[in-house]
Amino acid sequence: MIHPKYLSKHDWIQAEILSACDILGIEAAREFRGKGWRADVFVPNNGRPIAFEVQLSPQSLKKTLERQAKFERDGIIGCWLFENPVSKLNNERPDLPLFYVENDNYTSLLVNLGDRRKVELHMFLENFISNNIRFNSVAKTHTKQLVNLVFYDMPCWKCGEMNQLYYVDSLFSSSCNAKIRPKEMMWESNSTEYRQEIVELASKFIENRKDLNLKLGQIKKRYSNTIEDSYTSFGCYNCDSLFGDWFVMKAKLELKYEPKELTCQGEIDLGESVELDIPHWCFPNNGQFCEKEIKTVANKA
Ligand SMILES: [Zn+2]
Ligand SMILES: [Zn+2]
Repeated sequence: MIHPKYLSKHDWIQAEILSACDILGIEAAREFRGKGWRADVFVPNNGRPIAFEVQLSPQSLKKTLERQAKFERDGIIGCWLFENPVSKLNNERPDLPLFYVENDNYTSLLVNLGDRRKVELHMFLENFISNNIRFNSVAKTHTKQLVNLVFYDMPCWKCGEMNQLYYVDSLFSSSCNAKIRPKEMMWESNSTEYRQEIVELASKFIENRKDLNLKLGQIKKRYSNTIEDSYTSFGCYNCDSLFGDWFVMKAKLELKYEPKELTCQGEIDLGESVELDIPHWCFPNNGQFCEKEIKTVANKA
């Protein structure tokens, strides 16, 4: 391969596609013309043909979809490599594998998968051609998660004693590194902080660091006069008064931008994956795709 600095970006990307095919033992065709369409590189790929188009000049979403329809008509996967964001394309979509290629100082080309990760174009291509990058409508956490707890002071509104509460300062993530924050609603007992695995992690930390003398009351259901119902909450270690979700949330928001004085990190096991609607081209680092849970019904004989 000619050194990239002698190639235009278009030709460089094209050369990378050809090289990826080469490694996979696939004979690809450059500048291929089909019926009413063309491809910068056409990859026959045993029953899963792919047409790669390197699109460095702007092209509207409408135009792209029109061209995509022609690939689809002929049973071909059209894969687009853009340089600049396509306006009006707000979500990743299953009928349009479209990715952004960044130039990393003439040393390498990277595919930018949004806030999930950036990967070497070459590795990306090898995996896309091999069907290791697939569309999923949900992102799904793996069950093991590394989390970060931040402790903070909270005086009891009733007895005045100083307590220490904590919040979860990290998002969960999937194998493809999508960030997942479980849905939380005030007064519905589903704050991430109240998850049993998290409570255990905090308790263990407090137990191991007796020198810090942290005062954390029980996390349990308490009756609230505000909403006239019971919900899981933090409470005072001394008088067991409820620390309402609204106050805790307010404190959490204010603390987000403060220096984190006392933190603890640990691995937890969620037991069950958390799913969130995040349509994305899933490229997991361990082969575990964010597949939607398929509930199988036992067949009664
Ligand atoms: Zn108290
Ligand atoms: Zn995924």
